[in-house]
Amino acid sequence: MFISASVFAQEEQSKDRELGHTNNNKFKQLYDEFSTPNMFRTASGAPGPAYYQQKADYKMDIELDDVNAKITGFETITYTNNSPDILQYLWVQLDQNKRAKDSKSPLIEDSGVSSMVTPSGFVNKYISNKFDGGFKIQEVKDINGKPLPHFINSTMMRVEMPEPLVSGEKYSFSIKWWYNINNHVDGRGRSGYEYFPEDDNRAYIIAQFFPRMAVYSDVEGWQHSQFWGRDEFALPFGDYEVNITVPEDHILDGTGKLMNRKEVFTKDMLKRYEKAKESFDEPVLIVTQSEAEAAEKTKSNKKKTWKLFAENVRDFAFTSSRKYIWDMMAVKVGGKDVMAVSLYAKDGNPLWGEWSTKTVASTLKSYSRMTFDYPYHKAISVHAKNQGMEYPMICWNWGRPNKDGKYTDRTKYGMMSVIIHEVGHNFFPMIINSDERQWTWMDEGLTTFVQYIAEQDMGEWYPDALSPGHDKYPSRRGPAEKIIPYMSGDQDFIAPIMTKGLNTHQFGSNAYSKPATGLNMLRETIMGQELFDYAFKTYAQRWMFKHPTPEDFFRTMEDASAFDLDWFWRGWFYTTDYTDIGVKGVNKYYVSNEPNQRMKDIVARRGLKISDIAPYVYLVEEGTNDFKESLRGKSTLENSPTLNEYLMDNFTPAERKNIETRNYFYKVTFEKPGGLVMPIIVEYKYADGTKERVTYPAQIWRYNDNEVSKAIASTSELVSIIVDPDKETADIDTSNNSWPKEIKQSRFDQFKSEIKN
Ligand SMILES: [Zn+2]
Repeated sequence: MFISASVFAQEEQSKDRELGHTNNNKFKQLYDEFSTPNMFRTASGAPGPAYYQQKADYKMDIELDDVNAKITGFETITYTNNSPDILQYLWVQLDQNKRAKDSKSPLIEDSGVSSMVTPSGFVNKYISNKFDGGFKIQEVKDINGKPLPHFINSTMMRVEMPEPLVSGEKYSFSIKWWYNINNHVDGRGRSGYEYFPEDDNRAYIIAQFFPRMAVYSDVEGWQHSQFWGRDEFALPFGDYEVNITVPEDHILDGTGKLMNRKEVFTKDMLKRYEKAKESFDEPVLIVTQSEAEAAEKTKSNKKKTWKLFAENVRDFAFTSSRKYIWDMMAVKVGGKDVMAVSLYAKDGNPLWGEWSTKTVASTLKSYSRMTFDYPYHKAISVHAKNQGMEYPMICWNWGRPNKDGKYTDRTKYGMMSVIIHEVGHNFFPMIINSDERQWTWMDEGLTTFVQYIAEQDMGEWYPDALSPGHDKYPSRRGPAEKIIPYMSGDQDFIAPIMTKGLNTHQFGSNAYSKPATGLNMLRETIMGQELFDYAFKTYAQRWMFKHPTPEDFFRTMEDASAFDLDWFWRGWFYTTDYTDIGVKGVNKYYVSNEPNQRMKDIVARRGLKISDIAPYVYLVEEGTNDFKESLRGKSTLENSPTLNEYLMDNFTPAERKNIETRNYFYKVTFEKPGGLVMPIIVEYKYADGTKERVTYPAQIWRYNDNEVSKAIASTSELVSIIVDPDKETADIDTSNNSWPKEIKQSRFDQFKSEIKN
């Protein structure tokens, strides 16, 4: 009688089953973490049939008082309620109140005394500053000029309407305000002025400068989480009609189309502007350095009004100074001409004249390639000391040469990288309008991820931008290896990426580097570029000019790729686990015609003889009692007549020619001391000099989170194994990544051998 083979197979596998699958393992779908899909947001990650977003349109008259560093504004907001809800009141953001005398921001900082502090840090911490910041709200009125009840809670203002605003209706109201502009170099602000003592001038970068509507959405209701200073903004889209009055000799640019160019440009400027529209290789100066140097020597007391109009933007910012040099260059994006623009004081040259505008142009092409064609008509890079900050169509960037005009590679690449990053923010979050206040990684992580690709493009498209000795752009973030110091750090100072920005330690690593590196790993190692890029683009296009949430991103990446990534989101975004995968050991086997002792015992326990069971091919391990020296040096077919007979009985001579009988058999055991599941990328090297690269998908860990084994059969002896040979998985401990273990001679051993010699 013959016993079915499955009986024995079951007995062999029972141990694996005990370790096995539970409903709580690392491959469990994210049902508990994700919100339930609904009519607003679908399970596929796309906007649903009932998706809505609110609209806030602004008409503003602004005046910049350069003598007193003061700004005044009168704005009319028209708010459209596209939600199905009835709104009893509106919430308006007053970000400048972070600088008010009664601001609570400084009070939430845990601040001891340190033995070293920068001069500006010292001034802010220890010297009493009488600066009176924050909005002075002069009036809040309806369109008939009737005052509206309002209440200010720190950086948020509740405005009460005479009647609730029903679905589909609009409400208009006006706010009159002013505030003192802060020195952003001293106070570390995202907005303010820099003072230049040599010529007694200021350069203004003005943002968060007007009361702005809060977002009301299906996800949060009102997003009116206070502005403490770190986590950025959540803003609805709308149209902006903004008239800005500044000293006549100021140069100004900002969000939106300039509507009165002929009034504010000189004839020369207009001519140069027409030339810039045709120049695709080199920037054209609209205002030259000598003109800017002449302008900064005098101060006009006349005024000039610049009129800007922006459609479908989530914010508005502008810059103004008599110190500015201004250049522009056209760039083709998807068949449309976009203007790449830079403004900088002479202190930025020669670096800024050479590289700012070209970097803007390169960035627009790279980010458009990864998402959608840049939809606005211009993108501006403004040079401002210590700044890296983004607004629609305009951003502030650092990178200043020494006084003598010389600059280091570090300054040059730093300047290019910050421009790439901040211009890139036009895509995330200015157009793909995520909630920065809640999810820093959705704009910073995604922007930093594409930044790496854009930096590499820049090196390729503008080889002159690279310093001698560099054949590619030296990116600081992106490659997996660079995240290892963070991932292997003290767990007390690491939070999951899915944490509100305000509350994370190591902000830069948490919200910028780690999500960017994770996406890079998905693109390069786990999904491959083609699948990843299609899915990433799908996310960008689905949520262009809308408000996505993390789930919308996670779901779309799977929806467009048929790649189950819940395990990756779970590990990389929701935990602080790290990768550590290695080779635990290698066992060598020989084929035999005789069973091992364990099999003999199993058969005996059932009261049977070996001859009672079906013929098997047996594998015995070298170095165990079952192993016989006589097996060594013989071929597999010589050692197993059973196998030979099976092949002769079941295959034609022609078919047998296609069969490669292998003579070397191994069990390779991989261990995973790290908490993250990841693919195992392995390079096997054989005695005949051949190498084989195999990637076992992460799902190999689904039954056993600690160790897994693979059977290897080869025609040549296995001589070495390397796990993750190209360092793609951010493995924090590579001491277990090779077999045989790399013998590293200790210093003491080295010392001993040196003495002997
Ligand atoms: Zn950023």
